[in-house]
Amino acid sequence: MTSRAGFSGAIGDTPHIVLPKLSAALGRTIAGKAEFLNPGGSVKDRAAKGIVDDAEARGALAPGGTIVEGTAGNTGIALTLIGNERGYRVVICIPDDQSPEKFELLRTFGADVRVIEAVAFTNDNNYYHVARRIAAETPGALWADQFNNTANRRAHYATTGPEIWSAFGSRLTAFVAACGTGGTLAGTGSFLKERNREVRIVLCDPLGSALYSFVKRGVLEPDGDSNAEGIGIKRITENFKDAPVDDALQVDDRAMVEMAYWLLREEGLFVGGSAALNLVGAARYARTLPEGSTVVTILCDGGERYRSRLWNAAWLAENDCTPRATDLSFL
Ligand code: PMP
Repeated sequence: MTSRAGFSGAIGDTPHIVLPKLSAALGRTIAGKAEFLNPGGSVKDRAAKGIVDDAEARGALAPGGTIVEGTAGNTGIALTLIGNERGYRVVICIPDDQSPEKFELLRTFGADVRVIEAVAFTNDNNYYHVARRIAAETPGALWADQFNNTANRRAHYATTGPEIWSAFGSRLTAFVAACGTGGTLAGTGSFLKERNREVRIVLCDPLGSALYSFVKRGVLEPDGDSNAEGIGIKRITENFKDAPVDDALQVDDRAMVEMAYWLLREEGLFVGGSAALNLVGAARYARTLPEGSTVVTILCDGGERYRSRLWNAAWLAENDCTPRATDLSFL
Protein backbone atom coordinates (compact mmCIF):
# COMPACT_ATOMS: atom_id res chain seq x y z
CA MET A 1 0.00 0.00 0.00
CA THR A 2 1.11 3.55 -0.67
CA SER A 3 0.85 6.45 1.75
CA ARG A 4 -1.09 9.55 0.67
CA ALA A 5 -0.63 13.18 1.69
CA GLY A 6 -3.76 14.58 3.31
CA PHE A 7 -7.35 14.69 2.08
CA SER A 8 -6.40 15.88 -1.39
CA GLY A 9 -3.69 13.26 -1.71
CA ALA A 10 -6.16 10.52 -0.88
CA ILE A 11 -8.41 11.36 -3.85
CA GLY A 12 -8.34 9.01 -6.82
CA ASP A 13 -6.64 5.71 -7.61
CA THR A 14 -9.89 3.98 -6.75
CA PRO A 15 -10.31 0.26 -7.45
CA HIS A 16 -12.15 -1.07 -10.49
CA ILE A 17 -14.55 -3.63 -9.06
CA VAL A 18 -15.30 -6.40 -11.54
CA LEU A 19 -18.81 -7.67 -10.75
CA PRO A 20 -18.57 -11.46 -10.92
CA LYS A 21 -22.27 -12.36 -11.00
CA LEU A 22 -23.34 -9.58 -13.34
CA SER A 23 -20.42 -10.35 -15.68
CA ALA A 24 -21.16 -14.10 -15.65
CA ALA A 25 -24.85 -13.51 -16.40
CA LEU A 26 -23.98 -11.33 -19.40
CA GLY A 27 -20.92 -13.16 -20.72
CA ARG A 28 -19.20 -9.76 -20.74
CA THR A 29 -16.98 -8.18 -18.08
CA ILE A 30 -18.64 -5.32 -16.20
CA ALA A 31 -16.48 -3.25 -13.85
CA GLY A 32 -17.50 -0.33 -11.64
CA LYS A 33 -14.92 2.23 -10.63
CA ALA A 34 -15.40 2.55 -6.86
CA GLU A 35 -15.60 6.33 -6.58
CA PHE A 36 -17.50 5.98 -3.28
CA LEU A 37 -14.07 5.12 -1.79
CA ASN A 38 -12.76 8.63 -2.36
CA PRO A 39 -12.18 10.39 1.00
CA GLY A 40 -15.22 12.65 0.51
CA GLY A 41 -17.29 9.66 -0.56
CA SER A 42 -17.96 10.47 -4.21
CA VAL A 43 -16.65 10.97 -7.73
CA LYS A 44 -16.94 14.72 -7.17
CA ASP A 45 -13.81 14.79 -5.01
CA ARG A 46 -11.85 14.71 -8.26
CA ALA A 47 -13.66 17.67 -9.82
CA ALA A 48 -13.51 19.70 -6.60
CA LYS A 49 -9.77 19.16 -6.24
CA GLY A 50 -9.23 20.00 -9.92
CA ILE A 51 -11.23 23.22 -9.61
CA VAL A 52 -9.48 24.37 -6.42
CA ASP A 53 -5.99 23.47 -7.69
CA ASP A 54 -6.68 25.38 -10.91
CA ALA A 55 -8.03 28.43 -9.06
CA GLU A 56 -5.01 28.51 -6.74
CA ALA A 57 -2.63 28.23 -9.71
CA ARG A 58 -4.42 31.11 -11.51
CA GLY A 59 -4.37 33.23 -8.37
CA ALA A 60 -8.18 33.21 -8.27
CA LEU A 61 -8.21 31.84 -4.75
CA ALA A 62 -5.89 33.09 -2.01
CA PRO A 63 -5.43 32.02 1.64
CA GLY A 64 -8.47 32.93 3.70
CA GLY A 65 -10.65 33.11 0.59
CA THR A 66 -14.16 31.78 0.07
CA ILE A 67 -15.40 29.09 -2.30
CA VAL A 68 -19.02 29.43 -3.45
CA GLU A 69 -20.87 26.72 -5.35
CA GLY A 70 -24.31 25.64 -6.40
CA THR A 71 -24.47 21.89 -6.06
CA ALA A 72 -26.77 18.92 -5.67
CA GLY A 73 -24.56 17.91 -2.74
CA ASN A 74 -21.53 15.84 -3.61
CA THR A 75 -19.50 18.68 -5.09
CA GLY A 76 -20.38 20.77 -2.05
CA ILE A 77 -19.29 18.02 0.31
CA ALA A 78 -15.97 17.66 -1.53
CA LEU A 79 -15.36 21.43 -1.70
CA THR A 80 -16.14 21.82 2.01
CA LEU A 81 -13.64 19.12 3.00
CA ILE A 82 -10.96 20.58 0.72
CA GLY A 83 -11.78 24.01 2.16
CA ASN A 84 -11.21 22.65 5.67
CA GLU A 85 -7.93 21.10 4.58
CA ARG A 86 -6.66 24.26 2.89
CA GLY A 87 -8.26 27.01 4.97
CA TYR A 88 -11.12 28.32 2.80
CA ARG A 89 -14.63 29.23 3.88
CA VAL A 90 -17.22 27.39 1.78
CA VAL A 91 -20.72 28.62 0.89
CA ILE A 92 -23.01 26.01 -0.66
CA CYS A 93 -26.31 26.71 -2.45
CA ILE A 94 -28.28 23.48 -2.65
CA PRO A 95 -31.78 22.94 -4.08
CA ASP A 96 -34.33 21.89 -1.47
CA ASP A 97 -35.26 18.65 -3.25
CA GLN A 98 -32.03 16.80 -2.49
CA SER A 99 -31.72 14.02 0.09
CA PRO A 100 -31.69 15.24 3.73
CA GLU A 101 -28.49 13.27 4.34
CA LYS A 102 -26.55 15.65 2.06
CA PHE A 103 -27.74 18.79 3.92
CA GLU A 104 -26.78 17.19 7.24
CA LEU A 105 -23.32 16.24 6.02
CA LEU A 106 -22.69 19.71 4.59
CA ARG A 107 -23.64 21.34 7.89
CA THR A 108 -21.63 18.83 9.95
CA PHE A 109 -18.58 19.47 7.78
CA GLY A 110 -18.90 23.22 8.37
CA ALA A 111 -20.27 24.62 5.10
CA ASP A 112 -22.39 27.77 5.13
CA VAL A 113 -25.44 26.04 3.63
CA ARG A 114 -28.04 28.07 1.73
CA VAL A 115 -31.09 25.96 0.92
CA ILE A 116 -32.64 27.24 -2.30
CA GLU A 117 -36.12 26.45 -3.59
CA ALA A 118 -35.79 23.99 -6.49
CA VAL A 119 -36.84 25.94 -9.60
CA ALA A 120 -36.00 25.63 -13.30
CA PHE A 121 -32.63 26.79 -14.59
CA THR A 122 -34.39 29.49 -16.61
CA ASN A 123 -35.60 31.04 -13.35
CA ASP A 124 -33.15 33.62 -11.98
CA ASN A 125 -33.56 32.10 -8.50
CA ASN A 126 -32.26 28.68 -9.55
CA TYR A 127 -29.48 27.60 -7.16
CA TYR A 128 -26.89 27.96 -9.93
CA HIS A 129 -27.66 31.67 -10.45
CA VAL A 130 -27.90 32.34 -6.71
CA ALA A 131 -24.40 30.88 -6.22
CA ARG A 132 -23.02 33.04 -9.03
CA ARG A 133 -24.50 36.18 -7.43
CA ILE A 134 -23.23 35.34 -3.93
CA ALA A 135 -19.72 34.81 -5.33
CA ALA A 136 -19.84 38.12 -7.21
CA GLU A 137 -20.90 39.95 -4.02
CA THR A 138 -18.33 38.29 -1.72
CA PRO A 139 -14.78 39.76 -1.70
CA GLY A 140 -12.09 37.15 -2.37
CA ALA A 141 -14.63 34.55 -3.46
CA LEU A 142 -14.25 31.89 -6.13
CA TRP A 143 -17.39 30.66 -7.90
CA ALA A 144 -16.41 27.04 -8.51
CA ASP A 145 -18.96 26.72 -11.39
CA GLN A 146 -18.59 22.97 -11.83
CA PHE A 147 -20.91 23.02 -14.87
CA ASN A 148 -18.85 25.37 -17.03
CA ASN A 149 -15.45 25.40 -15.37
CA THR A 150 -13.51 22.91 -17.46
CA ALA A 151 -11.00 22.26 -14.66
CA ASN A 152 -13.70 19.71 -13.81
CA ARG A 153 -13.35 17.66 -16.99
CA ARG A 154 -9.58 18.16 -17.00
CA ALA A 155 -9.40 16.45 -13.59
CA HIS A 156 -11.05 13.37 -15.10
CA TYR A 157 -8.85 13.56 -18.18
CA ALA A 158 -5.79 13.64 -15.91
CA THR A 159 -6.86 10.96 -13.41
CA THR A 160 -10.00 8.86 -14.07
CA GLY A 161 -9.12 8.17 -17.71
CA PRO A 162 -5.51 7.12 -17.08
CA GLU A 163 -6.52 4.93 -14.14
CA ILE A 164 -9.07 3.02 -16.24
CA TRP A 165 -6.63 2.74 -19.12
CA SER A 166 -3.87 1.40 -16.89
CA ALA A 167 -6.25 -1.21 -15.42
CA PHE A 168 -7.81 -2.46 -18.68
CA GLY A 169 -5.78 -1.07 -21.61
CA SER A 170 -6.73 -2.50 -24.98
CA ARG A 171 -9.20 -4.92 -23.34
CA LEU A 172 -11.55 -2.00 -22.70
CA THR A 173 -14.52 -2.05 -25.11
CA ALA A 174 -16.73 0.71 -23.72
CA PHE A 175 -17.04 3.34 -21.01
CA VAL A 176 -20.57 4.20 -19.86
CA ALA A 177 -21.57 7.06 -17.55
CA ALA A 178 -24.43 9.39 -16.67
CA CYS A 179 -23.88 13.15 -16.59
CA GLY A 180 -24.52 15.79 -13.96
CA THR A 181 -22.06 18.35 -15.23
CA GLY A 182 -20.61 16.04 -17.89
CA GLY A 183 -17.11 16.30 -16.42
CA THR A 184 -16.73 12.58 -15.77
CA LEU A 185 -17.98 11.43 -19.17
CA ALA A 186 -16.20 14.10 -21.23
CA GLY A 187 -12.85 14.06 -19.42
CA THR A 188 -12.59 10.30 -19.03
CA GLY A 189 -14.03 9.69 -22.50
CA SER A 190 -11.58 12.07 -24.19
CA PHE A 191 -8.59 10.40 -22.57
CA LEU A 192 -9.74 6.88 -23.47
CA LYS A 193 -10.56 7.87 -27.07
CA GLU A 194 -7.08 9.31 -27.50
CA ARG A 195 -5.59 6.01 -26.38
CA ASN A 196 -7.87 3.89 -28.54
CA ARG A 197 -10.33 5.31 -31.06
CA GLU A 198 -12.31 2.07 -30.96
CA VAL A 199 -13.36 2.48 -27.32
CA ARG A 200 -17.09 3.29 -27.24
CA ILE A 201 -18.03 6.25 -25.04
CA VAL A 202 -21.67 5.94 -24.03
CA LEU A 203 -23.98 8.32 -22.17
CA CYS A 204 -26.47 6.73 -19.81
CA ASP A 205 -29.24 9.26 -19.12
CA PRO A 206 -32.07 9.28 -16.58
CA LEU A 207 -35.56 10.26 -17.74
CA GLY A 208 -36.21 14.00 -17.55
CA SER A 209 -32.73 14.79 -18.88
CA ALA A 210 -32.17 16.22 -22.36
CA LEU A 211 -28.79 14.73 -23.18
CA TYR A 212 -30.16 11.46 -24.56
CA SER A 213 -32.17 13.26 -27.26
CA PHE A 214 -29.18 15.53 -27.89
CA VAL A 215 -26.83 12.60 -28.58
CA LYS A 216 -29.43 10.68 -30.60
CA ARG A 217 -31.08 13.50 -32.55
CA GLY A 218 -29.13 16.70 -31.88
CA VAL A 219 -32.03 18.35 -30.00
CA LEU A 220 -32.58 19.07 -26.29
CA GLU A 221 -35.93 17.39 -25.67
CA PRO A 222 -36.33 16.10 -22.12
CA ASP A 223 -39.09 13.55 -21.56
CA GLY A 224 -40.39 11.85 -18.42
CA ASP A 225 -39.09 12.35 -14.90
CA SER A 226 -36.62 10.83 -12.44
CA ASN A 227 -35.76 10.85 -8.75
CA ALA A 228 -32.09 10.20 -9.52
CA GLU A 229 -29.89 12.75 -7.74
CA GLY A 230 -26.82 14.46 -9.17
CA ILE A 231 -27.45 13.42 -12.76
CA GLY A 232 -29.58 14.54 -15.68
CA ILE A 233 -29.36 17.97 -17.27
CA LYS A 234 -31.39 19.95 -19.76
CA ARG A 235 -28.63 22.12 -21.25
CA ILE A 236 -25.20 21.68 -22.83
CA THR A 237 -22.49 22.63 -20.34
CA GLU A 238 -18.93 23.63 -21.23
CA ASN A 239 -17.84 20.39 -19.61
CA PHE A 240 -20.15 18.24 -21.77
CA LYS A 241 -19.59 20.20 -24.97
CA ASP A 242 -17.39 18.32 -27.46
CA ALA A 243 -17.43 15.12 -25.37
CA PRO A 244 -16.61 12.25 -27.75
CA VAL A 245 -19.91 10.42 -27.21
CA ASP A 246 -20.69 7.51 -29.55
CA ASP A 247 -24.07 6.44 -28.26
CA ALA A 248 -26.67 6.99 -25.54
CA LEU A 249 -29.14 4.95 -23.51
CA GLN A 250 -32.06 6.02 -21.36
CA VAL A 251 -32.67 4.27 -18.04
CA ASP A 252 -35.85 4.66 -15.95
CA ASP A 253 -36.03 4.80 -12.15
CA ARG A 254 -37.60 1.33 -11.87
CA ALA A 255 -34.52 -0.31 -13.46
CA MET A 256 -32.21 1.89 -11.37
CA VAL A 257 -33.88 0.79 -8.12
CA GLU A 258 -33.98 -2.89 -9.13
CA MET A 259 -30.25 -2.75 -9.90
CA ALA A 260 -29.42 -1.04 -6.58
CA TYR A 261 -31.16 -3.80 -4.61
CA TRP A 262 -29.86 -6.63 -6.81
CA LEU A 263 -26.33 -5.30 -6.42
CA LEU A 264 -26.55 -5.14 -2.63
CA ARG A 265 -28.12 -8.60 -2.37
CA GLU A 266 -25.97 -10.41 -4.93
CA GLU A 267 -22.67 -8.54 -5.09
CA GLY A 268 -22.56 -6.99 -1.59
CA LEU A 269 -22.20 -3.43 -2.89
CA PHE A 270 -24.20 -0.57 -1.33
CA VAL A 271 -24.38 2.35 -3.76
CA GLY A 272 -26.40 5.45 -4.64
CA GLY A 273 -28.90 5.76 -7.47
CA SER A 274 -26.59 7.15 -10.14
CA ALA A 275 -24.16 4.25 -9.63
CA ALA A 276 -27.01 1.77 -10.02
CA LEU A 277 -28.28 3.60 -13.10
CA ASN A 278 -24.78 3.51 -14.58
CA LEU A 279 -24.64 -0.24 -14.06
CA VAL A 280 -27.98 -0.74 -15.81
CA GLY A 281 -26.60 1.27 -18.72
CA ALA A 282 -23.31 -0.64 -18.71
CA ALA A 283 -25.09 -4.01 -18.66
CA ARG A 284 -27.58 -3.11 -21.39
CA TYR A 285 -24.87 -1.68 -23.60
CA ALA A 286 -22.61 -4.68 -22.96
CA ARG A 287 -25.33 -6.98 -24.29
CA THR A 288 -25.09 -5.22 -27.67
CA LEU A 289 -21.34 -5.96 -27.80
CA PRO A 290 -19.58 -9.24 -28.65
CA GLU A 291 -19.19 -11.78 -25.86
CA GLY A 292 -16.01 -11.24 -23.86
CA SER A 293 -16.22 -7.43 -24.17
CA THR A 294 -15.27 -5.27 -21.19
CA VAL A 295 -17.43 -2.34 -20.10
CA VAL A 296 -16.38 0.04 -17.34
CA THR A 297 -18.66 2.46 -15.53
CA ILE A 298 -18.61 4.71 -12.45
CA LEU A 299 -19.93 3.87 -8.97
CA CYS A 300 -20.38 7.57 -8.19
CA ASP A 301 -21.22 7.41 -4.49
CA GLY A 302 -22.36 5.06 -1.74
CA GLY A 303 -25.81 4.19 -0.42
CA GLU A 304 -25.42 5.94 2.96
CA ARG A 305 -26.26 9.29 1.39
CA TYR A 306 -29.70 7.99 0.35
CA ARG A 307 -30.87 6.04 3.37
CA SER A 308 -34.02 8.14 3.64
CA ARG A 309 -34.89 7.68 -0.05
CA LEU A 310 -33.53 4.92 -2.31
CA TRP A 311 -32.83 2.81 0.79
CA ASN A 312 -36.11 3.55 2.56
CA ALA A 313 -39.12 1.24 1.97
CA ALA A 314 -41.73 3.93 2.68
CA TRP A 315 -40.15 6.37 0.23
CA LEU A 316 -39.90 3.72 -2.46
CA ALA A 317 -43.57 2.79 -1.98
CA GLU A 318 -44.59 6.47 -2.25
CA ASN A 319 -42.67 6.73 -5.50
CA ASP A 320 -44.03 3.46 -6.87
CA CYS A 321 -40.53 2.00 -7.04
CA THR A 322 -40.59 -0.84 -4.51
CA PRO A 323 -38.11 -3.37 -5.88
CA ARG A 324 -39.67 -6.70 -6.89
CA ALA A 325 -37.15 -8.39 -9.19
CA THR A 326 -35.67 -11.69 -8.05
CA ASP A 327 -33.23 -11.87 -10.95
CA LEU A 328 -31.79 -9.67 -13.71
CA SER A 329 -34.90 -9.75 -15.88
CA PHE A 330 -35.22 -5.94 -15.46
CA LEU A 331 -32.24 -5.59 -17.76
N1 PMP B 1 -23.61 10.87 -9.52
C1 PMP B 1 -23.73 11.67 -8.47
C2 PMP B 1 -24.33 11.12 -7.20
C3 PMP B 1 -23.32 13.01 -8.55
O1 PMP B 1 -23.44 13.83 -7.48
C4 PMP B 1 -22.80 13.49 -9.77
C5 PMP B 1 -22.36 14.92 -9.91
N2 PMP B 1 -23.38 15.87 -9.83
C6 PMP B 1 -22.72 12.61 -10.87
C7 PMP B 1 -23.12 11.31 -10.69
C8 PMP B 1 -22.28 13.06 -12.25
O2 PMP B 1 -20.96 13.44 -12.38
P1 PMP B 1 -20.53 14.60 -13.40
O3 PMP B 1 -20.88 15.91 -12.76
O4 PMP B 1 -19.06 14.43 -13.54
O5 PMP B 1 -21.25 14.44 -14.69
